Amino acid sequence: MSRLRSILSLILVLVTSLLVSCSSPQVSKIPTTYSVEKIEQLQRFVEPITEAYKKMPVLQGYIAEKNWVDARSLIQGPLGQIRQNMAQLSRDLLPKDQKQANQLTKEIFGHFERLDVALKDRNTSLAQSQFRDLLSDFDAFLDFLPKAS
Ligand code: ZN
Repeated sequence: MSRLRSILSLILVLVTSLLVSCSSPQVSKIPTTYSVEKIEQLQRFVEPITEAYKKMPVLQGYIAEKNWVDARSLIQGPLGQIRQNMAQLSRDLLPKDQKQANQLTKEIFGHFERLDVALKDRNTSLAQSQFRDLLSDFDAFLDFLPKAS
């Protein structure tokens, strides 16, 4: 009985020391929350993206007016530049968040591309449906980003 107990306590010591030796260093290397500094760093990518988001109602207006030329120059110009910001931002997120951010970025730019084709073809209903999908993915992307508070 006392022998079994000593074996058990030996196992317990082994397990405990094993846990201690593998825990701290690796775990602290992979952060799972955003520090205030990190969120501040991310702002340089977030700002142009939120600026672009503010242009979405303008784009919607152009589509409603069938103003194909201005709609296309808006998505190829000011809105086209956010692809890079989104990609850079996604790379700077925590590893656990990168996959979803990349997925949403891909979605958003798939809609931008199909919207551009719809505008070129002057296809109002396709342009409107692509715009709606684009806007909801864009909303999801912004909701997904870490907030300062
Ligand atoms: Zn989508």
